[in-house]
Amino acid sequence: MQVQVWNTMANSLKPSALRLQKNVYASLLQRYYSSSNDADVVVIGSGPGGYVAAIKAAQLGLKTVCIEKNPTLGGTCLNVGCIPSKALLNNSHYYHMAHSGDLAKRGIESDNIRLNLDTLMQQKVHAVTALTGGIAQLFKKNKVDLIKGHGKITGVNQVTALKEDGSSEVVNTKNILIATGSEVTPFPGIEIDEEQVVSSTGALSLKEVPKRLIVIGAGVIGVELGSVWSRLGSEVTAIEFLPSIGGVGIDQEVSKTLQKILTKQGLNFKLGTKVTGATKSGGVVRVSVQDVKDSSKTDELECEVLLVCVGRRPYTENLGLEEMGIERDQKGRVPVNSVFQTVIPNIYAIGDCIHGPMLAHKAEDEGIICIEGILGGPVHIDYNCVPSVIYTHPEVGWVGRSEEDLKSEGVDYKVGKFPFLANSRAKTNNETDGFVKVLADKATDRILGTHIVGPSAGELINEAVLAQEYGASSEDVARVCHAHPTCAEALREANVSAAFGKPINF
Ligand SMILES: Cc1cc2nc3c(=O)[nH]c(=O)nc-3n(C[C@H](O)[C@H](O)[C@H](O)COP(=O)(O)OP(=O)(O)OC[C@H]3O[C@@H](n4cnc5c(N)ncnc54)[C@H](O)[C@@H]3O)c2cc1C
Repeated sequence: MQVQVWNTMANSLKPSALRLQKNVYASLLQRYYSSSNDADVVVIGSGPGGYVAAIKAAQLGLKTVCIEKNPTLGGTCLNVGCIPSKALLNNSHYYHMAHSGDLAKRGIESDNIRLNLDTLMQQKVHAVTALTGGIAQLFKKNKVDLIKGHGKITGVNQVTALKEDGSSEVVNTKNILIATGSEVTPFPGIEIDEEQVVSSTGALSLKEVPKRLIVIGAGVIGVELGSVWSRLGSEVTAIEFLPSIGGVGIDQEVSKTLQKILTKQGLNFKLGTKVTGATKSGGVVRVSVQDVKDSSKTDELECEVLLVCVGRRPYTENLGLEEMGIERDQKGRVPVNSVFQTVIPNIYAIGDCIHGPMLAHKAEDEGIICIEGILGGPVHIDYNCVPSVIYTHPEVGWVGRSEEDLKSEGVDYKVGKFPFLANSRAKTNNETDGFVKVLADKATDRILGTHIVGPSAGELINEAVLAQEYGASSEDVARVCHAHPTCAEALREANVSAAFGKPINF
């Protein structure tokens, strides 16, 4: 009864008064829910969206429970995604530098370079274990109650954790936050066995380097994992339906440059090509392909390991959505409004299981602002300012609109470009492949997009994100002092070029 009164009070507040008043409201609610099985918010899933939301909620004084079905915390990102893939990318790069003679060219000579795949994998496991364990510590420190089990919404204010031993635990809660993430999209007709025919998960733990690896899909994950195994000695062929690599949103000039660089590194690409089936026999997988434009052009390729990498789909298995009347959209996502509410106002959803790019940092940001919104704070995320990174060597990073986007939207834009060949730090490090491209509004000079292929692009892009998020012009960035010698000077020079027509050093 008391809760209803507070609800009515909060709903009747004017927006200007909302923030402060709702904080008071939240603390009242916290005192109201005092039984050990009651919570202000139950977060289902502990991926980057869920765990960050749970910690934020607890820090803001909400009694928070997080339910996770996996033995370890951190979701896809920490266990089978961002973290293990980056561990393998980093260390395979070192091996490749030593093995390909790159180190020797720098005056570092070593004989008898050998790969110890077991140790390389152990280092990956070590990174994953340290980080997933770190979340458990953060939960303790911030007083987030963790329940291990499969969370199912069993009422508007109730989640039931179904535990491995068959028992269940019911938690009554004011709010529910769905952060159940995504899973690998299967390829119709090709069964994953995670040994010979693998998903990204299996490709992170192969026991030996396959002689030949075929990757279906040359999107972000496909080119990253293809790079790992190519550097370690596999003959890698990536088959892609689309005419270009790098997935959705990548600027086509960047995509073509990346393809050239990766081809030089030894990766093979078959673009505009469709996989029509795959069969296993005697340790070999035969993959049938067809030209997308001309179905009479067919071919058969062979490999020891086939990696199916055609994307991810939202995961909402046995979550109780049907029973609650929450329908999924055509892509299986949970529909939410601008404050992440589902059709049931106190049930929220964030991360990979809703709309928007499937990225860890997008899930994290949504988790934080969703919780702040529950407490009356403003909720705003601009998906146009969410960066994308491909962690190949060199890296690719971009934010905002591509040239193709601007052309199709009829926007009058100008281009500022600077090659790493003319950047002193890149030259010093002998890492001169790539460029920075800035796209700015022709009339106002406001930055609309930044595209980088080159050394440390994944770090550099964050400066471009900050500039774009704050509505900077290319002249703003051009006039900011940058440390020398750094690759970030190439970003500045591209902005100088956009603002004044010419860079200084090229
Ligand atoms: C190989 C690979 C590399 C990637 N690299 C990057 C990268 O470099 N950068 C980047 O930004 N993104 C990367 N991603 C994507 C990134 O991992 C996801 O976008 C991110 O993990 C999404 O976070 P999330 O919290 O929404 O969901 P998830 O991380 O998928 O977490 C969801 C969690 O919910 C749990 N769960 C699901 N249902 C229930 C239930 N009913 N009850 C209890 N628990 C449940 C799951 O077990 C899981 O732990 C990569 C993905 C892959 C596969």
